[in-house]
Amino acid sequence: MSREHFQIAVIGSGFAGSLAAMSAHQLGFSTVLIERGRHPRFAIGESSTPLANLLLEEIADDFDLPFLRPLSKWGTWQKQSPQIACGLKRGFTFYQHEFDRSFAPDAERRQQLLVGASPNEEVADTHWYRPDFDQNLVQHAQTLGVTYWDETSLTGAEERTDGVCLTGTRHGEPLDITAEFVIDASGPRGFLHRALNLPEKSSVSLPATQALFAHFQNVGSLTKEFSNSEQDPPYPPEQAAVHHIFPGGWIWVLKFNNGITSAGVVATDAIANELKFSEGEPAWRRLLARLPSLQDMFSNSRVVVPFIHSPHPAFQSGVVTGSRWALLPSAAGFVDPLLSTGFPLALLGVIRLAQLLKSNWRQPGFSSALAEYARLTSQESEAVARLVGALYATMNRFHLFRELSLLYFAAASYSETVRRLGKPHLADSFLLCRHPVFGPQLRQFCEAAMKPLSTAEAGQLPQNIRDAIEPFDVAGLTNRSRHPWYTAQVSDLFFNAEKVGASEEEIRAMLKRCGWRGDGCS
Ligand SMILES: Cc1cc2nc3c(=O)[nH]c(=O)nc-3n(C[C@H](O)[C@H](O)[C@H](O)COP(=O)(O)OP(=O)(O)OC[C@H]3O[C@@H](n4cnc5c(N)ncnc54)[C@H](O)[C@@H]3O)c2cc1C
Repeated sequence: MSREHFQIAVIGSGFAGSLAAMSAHQLGFSTVLIERGRHPRFAIGESSTPLANLLLEEIADDFDLPFLRPLSKWGTWQKQSPQIACGLKRGFTFYQHEFDRSFAPDAERRQQLLVGASPNEEVADTHWYRPDFDQNLVQHAQTLGVTYWDETSLTGAEERTDGVCLTGTRHGEPLDITAEFVIDASGPRGFLHRALNLPEKSSVSLPATQALFAHFQNVGSLTKEFSNSEQDPPYPPEQAAVHHIFPGGWIWVLKFNNGITSAGVVATDAIANELKFSEGEPAWRRLLARLPSLQDMFSNSRVVVPFIHSPHPAFQSGVVTGSRWALLPSAAGFVDPLLSTGFPLALLGVIRLAQLLKSNWRQPGFSSALAEYARLTSQESEAVARLVGALYATMNRFHLFRELSLLYFAAASYSETVRRLGKPHLADSFLLCRHPVFGPQLRQFCEAAMKPLSTAEAGQLPQNIRDAIEPFDVAGLTNRSRHPWYTAQVSDLFFNAEKVGASEEEIRAMLKRCGWRGDGCS
């Protein structure tokens, strides 16, 4: 029997577990990172966002992990770590489809929404090819001195007043670990959720959905009907997280620079059962047969990672913390891949728990700070569920879907801007869900969209949403002349500086810190 003691044990070595372990180590805690599998390994959840990348930078700076910073932008990533595969992401692309009809854009682009996230490739976001990305982080953790045990099967957890006792086996040998604090980064319905028999909360906002996904080679480009326009789009539409929306579900397509494409679908139970998602690839083919423009794109594709069927991807744990443990947000809940909220939530959790260990460990305020972390984690997950539920409810009313999506983009770009300006207190919760003005409005619009609306109400809702967004809009999202192709323009930040209480000089200094050279590349 191997008996070991650590101050911090982190369970699960996805990117979030490795970052949590490295942050704890850098704070001076003896730390073990425990993984049941072995890297490199497939992991889903790949598309990053400007806010996620900013949080990565904050972790790099706050916990002295300089190797992380270049991974927060396409340009520096390609210069520093070209061996780690990733994809170029300039924004969020949405196309609305109808079953059994080819995609046919109209002059007003009523079936499209393109939201640029970066003014150029250099500072663009990325899709993380997780086999490479996660392995790289684990290797850095080991180099720093984090104890890393892979191929470890944990079987039990016992909460004690002075910590948690974990039992299991590694390479067939029994293992007994005591940790003063445990961070669970093992994903939804993960280790502690099962070992401690925690309750699951059901969401009233979300429909029951199923997911089906794989990695492919030889996926074609968007066919020409998608680019049928005389005007240039705000960015090449495929250099993005591409969302193909259909009534009751959506498909994502993310292209990596190693020839691999991630694609998958999330759809309501009704559609998933009709198409028999549980059968894997045949169900995918059946779905594509109903979406002719996508079928063409995938006609020569080959699956390189077997299809995974997730029958209940949405999840929320009823308990998020104990006296000596905490679930990361990515272990405490998952809503849907729509809008890529998983990364920023997981990274916010890493930052919050690391700050808590830094400031409150062994202090009288520790348990109340932990309880506050739990409250915020649940509230944010519920806010995301409400918005995503409203988006599912409007997939067949795309004009409303687009307006509701702008709530996310407005909150995310405002949050990013104030954090970059050193004013994080102005956006202390994801989606601004705790903001006294934005939070209640977000809730109200989502609840309204879930209900059957009269023609007058449905006509008024978009304007009401825009009025609510306007005081927080630092990205030109309420500029009607751009709808529905939103370019990321640095001039918007100068124009809206007052909304974030900043001077022109402060905006200029912030942009300089972000790598903007002021060379007209807006
Ligand atoms: C279909 C789908 C698509 C998604 N797409 C996106 C997206 O585009 N953008 C986005 O922001 N988010 C997305 N997400 C969410 C995203 O996957 C998560 O936010 C992210 O993976 C969280 O990372 P993590 O490191 O916490 O956990 P994970 O990536 O889930 O890693 C968990 C690790 O824990 C290990 N583990 C599990 N159980 C144990 C155990 N008992 N003992 C030891 N180790 C264990 C696993 O082997 C794994 O290595 C998506 C999620 C799904 C389901």
